[in-house]
Amino acid sequence: MVNLNDVKKAQQELKGIIHQTPVLTSALLDEKSGNRIYLKSEHLQKTGSFKLRGAANAVIQAVKEGARLVTAASSGNHGQAVAYIAAELGIPAIIVVPEDANRAKVAAIKAYKGEVVYCGTTSAERIPKAVQLAGENNGFYVPPYDHPHIIAGQGTVGLELLDQVPEVDAIVVPVGGGGLIAGILTAVKAAQPNVKVIAAEPEFANDTYLSLKNNRITAIQGTATIADGLRTSQPGDLTFPILQKHLDGIILVAEEEIKEAFQFMAERTKQLIEPSSAVAAAAILSGKLEMADKNIAAILSGGNVDLRQMELFLPHLPKD
Ligand SMILES: *Cc1c(COP(=O)(O)O)cnc(C)c1O
Repeated sequence: MVNLNDVKKAQQELKGIIHQTPVLTSALLDEKSGNRIYLKSEHLQKTGSFKLRGAANAVIQAVKEGARLVTAASSGNHGQAVAYIAAELGIPAIIVVPEDANRAKVAAIKAYKGEVVYCGTTSAERIPKAVQLAGENNGFYVPPYDHPHIIAGQGTVGLELLDQVPEVDAIVVPVGGGGLIAGILTAVKAAQPNVKVIAAEPEFANDTYLSLKNNRITAIQGTATIADGLRTSQPGDLTFPILQKHLDGIILVAEEEIKEAFQFMAERTKQLIEPSSAVAAAAILSGKLEMADKNIAAILSGGNVDLRQMELFLPHLPKD
C-alpha cells in the first residue's frame, strides 16, 4: 500500500512543477455552515485541476525508468494533465478520446501539445487502445487513479493542506475513482490521524457508497451526474482498500444540491469551479455534514467547466 513516505517523495518531485494552491475563506460560507470553512483551491492548479499532481508524479517516475512516450484514455482533466506534463518533460503524449469528445476538451489537450487519437465511445474501448499504443512505442500508459504513483501524487494535496491549515478538523473530498481521497487519506491519517476525512459523492454516481456498504467493489450501471469528473462506475482495486481502512464517512448529494452549491460558489465566493468540486461544497452547504464550530476544509478539485453548459448548473437565474 502507498504510504506517507511515498507522498513526501511525490511532494519533492513536484516542486517547481505544480502550484502550491491557495486556501480561500468566506465569511458567508462560515455563517451558512456554522463552521470555519477552508477552500483548498485546486481549481487554480495548473491545467485547472489536482489531476496534474498524480499525472506528473507518475510520468516523472516512468521517464526515469526509460519511458519515451506516455498515453492516457481521458478527454477530461486527466488527459489535459498528462499532455501538459509530457510537454514539460519533452516527450510526446497520445491522448485517446471518445469519437464524440467535446471539442473544447480536445482543443485543450492539443493546446498542451498532446496528440489526440479518437477511439470508440466507451472507456472499455479507449483504455485497451491507450495501453496498446504505449506498448508499441516504449511508452507508459498513465491510469487516472488506480496506480501507486498517482495516489501518492494526489496525496500531496493533503500534505499541503495540513501545512496551510494545521488546525483543520475535517476534510471533505469529492470521490470518483478514489485516487484523490486515497492519497489524502494516506497522507493525513499517517501525519495527523485525528483529522476526519469525509467523501462527497453524487447520488447518481454512488458506486463508492455502495461499495463501502457492501464491503466489496460494486459497479453501477449509469452515472448520469452533472459532476463529470465523478462518473466512474466503480472504485479502484488500489484505492478502495484505502477508503475501507481509513474513511470516516461519505455524504451523498443530489443533483439539485450540486447546482445550488455551484451557483453559491460562483455568485458569493466568486470562484469558478466545476460541478465535481461543487459536490464537496454541496456536502457542506446542504447541512448533511453534521458538524458545528469546526475547521472544515473542502477540496475544490477543479475548475474546468464548459461555459456553454453553465446555464444548466445555475438553478436560480432571473427570469424575464
Ligand atoms: C478526477 C476528478 C475528481 C475525482 O478524483 P478521483 O481521483 O477519480 O476520485 C474530482 N474532481 C475533479 C475536478 C476531477 O477531475
